[in-house]
Amino acid sequence: MYILLMGPPGAGKGTQAARLIEKYNIPQISTGDMFRAAVKEQTPLGLEAKKYMDAGQLVPDSVTVGIVKERLAKDDCKKGFILDGFPRTTAQAVSLDAILKEMGIALDAVVNLNVPSDELVRRISERARLENRDDDKPETVQKRLTVYEESTKPLIDYYRNSGIYKDINGLQDVDDVFTDIVNALGR
Ligand code: AMP
Repeated sequence: MYILLMGPPGAGKGTQAARLIEKYNIPQISTGDMFRAAVKEQTPLGLEAKKYMDAGQLVPDSVTVGIVKERLAKDDCKKGFILDGFPRTTAQAVSLDAILKEMGIALDAVVNLNVPSDELVRRISERARLENRDDDKPETVQKRLTVYEESTKPLIDYYRNSGIYKDINGLQDVDDVFTDIVNALGR
């Protein structure tokens, strides 16, 4: 099962991905988690990524596509994966198409979690309190939402007519969102 999980920051991608990996026994590929791990380990990638993350901006496509390509080449991705937070730009989506083609696989579903922006601000503020994520500071949150609107939301149009696009109401409680996703995946 090859799943792409999309949605704005705070839509619940991480929460739903955690449940999906358990149900389908496939790895979650979260570029945000990968960057946060690199920042923590203070690798050259982490030092580079941190500049962008702290500003609420996207890490450049070339860097991001590079780490995803490397990750997807690992053995555990052979049985499937959940992409969470990638692609975030049209250029990344085009690169992903090329990577998948090279791997000889195709996505089974593109799942978009739909949540209105006032609710996103509320959720991210709550996460800032609980998880103390550097990029959940109020001044950065607004920037991330703007970046989503400008750079990532257009991807909905990129995938909408693919035949595998699933729009999910992310405003429901966590269990109902998960049920809807599983039903949309159809297995
Ligand atoms: P996330 O946890 O997915 O919200 O990602 C946190 C931050 O990591 C984002 O605000 C970006 O700075 C960076 N990031 C994560 N995924 C990507 C991506 N696909 N392209 C560029 N930057 C990314």
